[in-house]
Amino acid sequence: MCPICCDLFVCVQIGSACGHSFCGNCGWDWIAKTMPAPTCPYCRTPLNRQAPMIPNFAIESMVQKLVASLAENGVDGWDEEGELWREWQERQQRWKAGAAARASELERYSEAETPPAPASPPQARHEQLLINPSNEPAG
Ligand SMILES: [Zn+2]
Ligand SMILES: [Zn+2]
Repeated sequence: MCPICCDLFVCVQIGSACGHSFCGNCGWDWIAKTMPAPTCPYCRTPLNRQAPMIPNFAIESMVQKLVASLAENGVDGWDEEGELWREWQERQQRWKAGAAARASELERYSEAETPPAPASPPQARHEQLLINPSNEPAG
């Protein structure tokens, strides 16, 4: 269960690096608001700016199996085209559809963080290239 929406995980992600798990959508909704200093939506621990969350494959495969077995057993709402099953699929689609937007958002902030390259005069660069041109080991 996701601690944010209190529902079954959808495309579960893990906070990097506090270790909490939440739906991709639940996590991103919060993280996008806290950029460029992302925090965990659950414990508010600062997260990695370039990769605030990463897929939790272990739990994801458990969830996939659970949903499949709910559908197989015809659990109310979880049979194929059932209301809960449909909602879960829709949330999955929403997560996948947002991939490009999330990537560009993260890229925007990672670029902002990179310090501009120091402008070195052309002459200095030329001298550097001349150091040890034969690549012989020293001594
Ligand atoms: Zn959630
Ligand atoms: Zn956390």
